[in-house]
This record gives sequence, structure tokens and C-alpha cells, in this order.
Amino acid sequence: MGERLYRCDGIILKRIDVGEADRIVTILTPQRKIIATARGVRKTQSKLSGHLELLSHCQLQLAVGKTRDVLTQSIAVERFEQLQQQLVRMAAGYYIAELTDTLLADEDAAAQVYELCLVALRTLCTATSVEMALHWYTMQLCDAVGYRPQLVDCAVCARTLDQQANLWSAVQGGMLCPNCARSDIQATRVSLAVFKVLRLVQRESLSYVIELDVAAEVHATVFVILRRWVMRHTERAIRSAQFLDDVRSQTF
Ligand SMILES: [Zn+2]
Repeated sequence: MGERLYRCDGIILKRIDVGEADRIVTILTPQRKIIATARGVRKTQSKLSGHLELLSHCQLQLAVGKTRDVLTQSIAVERFEQLQQQLVRMAAGYYIAELTDTLLADEDAAAQVYELCLVALRTLCTATSVEMALHWYTMQLCDAVGYRPQLVDCAVCARTLDQQANLWSAVQGGMLCPNCARSDIQATRVSLAVFKVLRLVQRESLSYVIELDVAAEVHATVFVILRRWVMRHTERAIRSAQFLDDVRSQTF
């Protein structure tokens, strides 16, 4: 047949069942995002089944196809099984997958996003709280794809922000200094703790921020700010955010 094959590493971001036994799989690789067909994968005897679980990190072989490439081999390298064992971790994993799939359009950022995604998934498996991992990943992903909010200098006048800054304006693109408060009458007033978490997840490593002790209400506010920030750029809702909210409300 002479079909052209290639190999790559990838993280499974999305799976859609099609036809009798096939699946269309969205894969984040260090080179680009690939949407490939997995033929017959839902048959129990398929060699691929069990190696294309959502969020698993796989070594893949694909054949170049006319419209879509076709998965011919997959070996799971990391399955992140802890994500399946606790509902809140699973929901957080889904959120990461959907966010990545939604935000990554520009292939230039794939290598960076791929590394960030692996770091976030590994941390999600072991962290006592999933919230900080989600904030960090969302912020870093936004940065990688060109949606970095202004948190060091005022988003309007570019004056260096100090601890007096307490207004978040998605419309203006970040935090505002007190002088620029009127530039967005719908800006959200945020506590210093929220402002600090936003800055830390933008600047620091995940291994650093994951150790910080942050109040639940601060986490909740940061999550909403970042979720709306993403939605502002994607212009669509993140469906798994609702699932995450539902799971969180049952955890207490
Ligand atoms: Zn200003």
C-alpha cells in the first residue's frame, strides 16, 4: 500500500464515537494538535482499545490519511490513574483537556503547551488540592497562546501596580491601578490575596505554588476570573467547568 507512517508522543484530549466501532481522537503532540481516526477501536479485540483513554500520555504511530490521519498503534506511557479514582480530580482533568483543546489553535505554541499539560496532569494526580494546579495551568496556557493578562503594570496606563491595586478588568486586559478605575465601571473588586495568587501562578512554577496555603474563597474567585478570561477569548463556554462546579459542591 505504501502508506506513509509517522510516530509521535501525545496526550489524548478528546474522543468522539463515530460509526459502528470507530473513534475520532484529538491528540496534543509536541508538534501540533492532531485530529485522527481510530478505526475499530471500540471492538474488544482492538489492539488500540485501552491505550487511548482520555488524558493518557501515549506513544503513537499514525498513517497519513487523505482527510484525517489514522492511528495505527498506541502504547500508554502514563495513564494518570489517580485522575480516575476521585471525581474532583477527574473533573479537573476534563477541564484541562477541554481548555487545551479550545485554546490551542496556533500550532506554534504546541511544544510549550504539551510540557505544561504534562506537568499539570502529573501534579493533579498527587496534589491535595486541585485548585492551584487548575489556576496555574489556565494562566500558563493563556500565556503560551497569547492571552497573557497584565498583572505587573496597570492594563490601561502601564504604571507599575502596587498593593493598592484591587480592580480586575477583563475588558481592559488585566489589573487596574486606582487612577484607572473609571476606565471600566464593571471591573471586579478583588482582594490582595486574589491579586497575589493571580501574579504567582503567572510567574512561578507549579511545584512552588502548589505548596501555598490559600483560602477556599480566594480559590473560588481566582477560578471564576480565569474561567471568564478564557471565555472572553474563546467566545464559548467551557462545558466541563459546570461538571467541576457540580462535583465541588458535592465534595463537602
Ligand atoms: Zn492605570
